[in-house]
Amino acid sequence: MKTKSIARRDALNRGLAVSAGGFALVSLSACGEGEQKVVCAGPNNLTFAENSLRQASHYVEKSPHADKDCLKCGFYTAGEGGNVCGKCEIFIGPVNQAGYCDSFAVKQA
Ligand code: SF4
Repeated sequence: MKTKSIARRDALNRGLAVSAGGFALVSLSACGEGEQKVVCAGPNNLTFAENSLRQASHYVEKSPHADKDCLKCGFYTAGEGGNVCGKCEIFIGPVNQAGYCDSFAVKQA
């Protein structure tokens, strides 16, 4: 039990917080400028099937491509009220507007 309480305290000290909406804000202060990265689809908040589909499609919360991300994808619907976590027609559950997967298709004007 002592190990769990230390691990929990360590996670809190590193800036991990899970919101009621199911996504997490991860502080990257250990990496540099105190930047925060929003994780819309944390594996612990998704079913096995949802995780499997995302893994098979190589979904990532931060696109490796400068010109391709969920916000520019035709399958994406923006989150309400400026929420960076929107919806994808392919996946169940939220996706990050900065995310990316193999099914990316340029949004038509
Ligand atoms: S298909 Fe892929 S790139 Fe397009 S919105 Fe869904 S997760 Fe993002």
